Amino acid sequence: MRKRLINYKFEKPLTIKLMWTCTFCNRSFEKVNQTHSCKDQSVDDFLLGKPDYAINLFDLLISKFEEIGPIKIHATKSMVVISADKGFAYVINLGKNFLDIVLPFNERFEDNLCFRKIALVPGTNDYNHHLRIMYQEDFNEEVFDYMQKAYDKGKKKF
Ligand SMILES: [Zn+2]
Repeated sequence: MRKRLINYKFEKPLTIKLMWTCTFCNRSFEKVNQTHSCKDQSVDDFLLGKPDYAINLFDLLISKFEEIGPIKIHATKSMVVISADKGFAYVINLGKNFLDIVLPFNERFEDNLCFRKIALVPGTNDYNHHLRIMYQEDFNEEVFDYMQKAYDKGKKKF
């Protein structure tokens, strides 16, 4: 007996899409090297149990960096590392009502209103600039400007 193909005519044509999978975050895209931000599982683990208020500030920080360019986000035991080609910003503490971020620069930016502390990283030429975000409004023009500087530092120089 011949098998009848029901609704054969109405079947969708088979589409074969070439997918590209990012090796960092395992997400698949139709375009090779699709611009996106990678966040791996370790970040979710790191944020687990952290105060909602600080997580909201963290999400805002990430979206601000994404306005600048694609980033990768990875967590270690003690911090979240945000990188472009290399790490350029570190979230070191999610408090009850604040978010502590460190931006390393090759020079001291003394003339600022946003950093609580500037400290030389031992054995390097980097100065860690400590930023505490308490309110959404703290992501002001000055802070965004330093975030851009930090991002540039995370890009490879060709
Ligand atoms: Zn990715």
